[in-house]
Amino acid sequence: RGGQQQRAIPFAQPGNLTRVLAVASGKGGVGKSSVTVNLALALAKQGRAVGILDADIYGHSIPDLLGLGDARPTVVDDMIMPVPAMGGLRVISIGMLKPSRDQVVAWRGPILDRALTQLLADVYWGDLDYLLLDLPPGTGDVAMSLGQKIPSSEVLVVTTPQTAASEVAERAGTMAHILEQRVLGVVENMSWMETTCPHCEQSHRLELFGSGGGALVAEALTERFVYEVPLLAQIPFDESLLSGGDRGTPIVESHPDHPSAQAITGLAEQVA
Ligand code: ADP
Repeated sequence: RGGQQQRAIPFAQPGNLTRVLAVASGKGGVGKSSVTVNLALALAKQGRAVGILDADIYGHSIPDLLGLGDARPTVVDDMIMPVPAMGGLRVISIGMLKPSRDQVVAWRGPILDRALTQLLADVYWGDLDYLLLDLPPGTGDVAMSLGQKIPSSEVLVVTTPQTAASEVAERAGTMAHILEQRVLGVVENMSWMETTCPHCEQSHRLELFGSGGGALVAEALTERFVYEVPLLAQIPFDESLLSGGDRGTPIVESHPDHPSAQAITGLAEQVA
């Protein structure tokens, strides 16, 4: 925007009614993006207007998860139009700002900060009930500048049940708190896998990635903060969630009856 003055971020203005929910994790691969997409769809199913800002510079997998391919935003009257996706979602990914799909983003501090401001201020989001932000893993630059730009933003911390994962997740939650963002709660993903025992034919919960990580993070954050940070959901491992990610068909849409989809629908009810 050349020498022009930068637009203000609507979500940071007093009286703005959009709830900005940042989805954070301590490390990559815990299902942060999958949770973001499915939570967005579950909220949309409740009749809410939902936008997703994919700010995960390392992963930016949101367009793939929603089957958007190489869709790019259009520009109308100097404003960036988000890409419409299933369920009425409006989506912008930091990856859409890259000249080509294969280019690696090696932006640092100031450039990244400017990109985030642009995605928040120059995108025509319209009236949103929720804006979900998929943050890069860790406690890095993006999380920090978001907390400064939109202090009213709230944070969901995603972790796996593993103790090692929960320790880094706790750090991500603590960072949010230092930035005075409210930590809404903890989401434990890949909590267990439902299996049928070949011998007794009963259903068992196979704890693939350990157990207790989510509760641990919630307890640790509650102890540290002045309010309760609950464990909001436990999402089982589900083949359909894995393959749906590859095919661009999120489980909340494709298999709403599966326990993982129901866990995310329950999460949406608690968030709302
Ligand atoms: P992150 O955003 O934390 O890096 P992703 O959402 O990209 O993680 O998930 C990492 C991988 O794990 C993806 O292949 C995704 O499909 C898969 N995955 C995430 N959650 C589940 C789950 N509950 N069950 C099965 N596969 C999952």
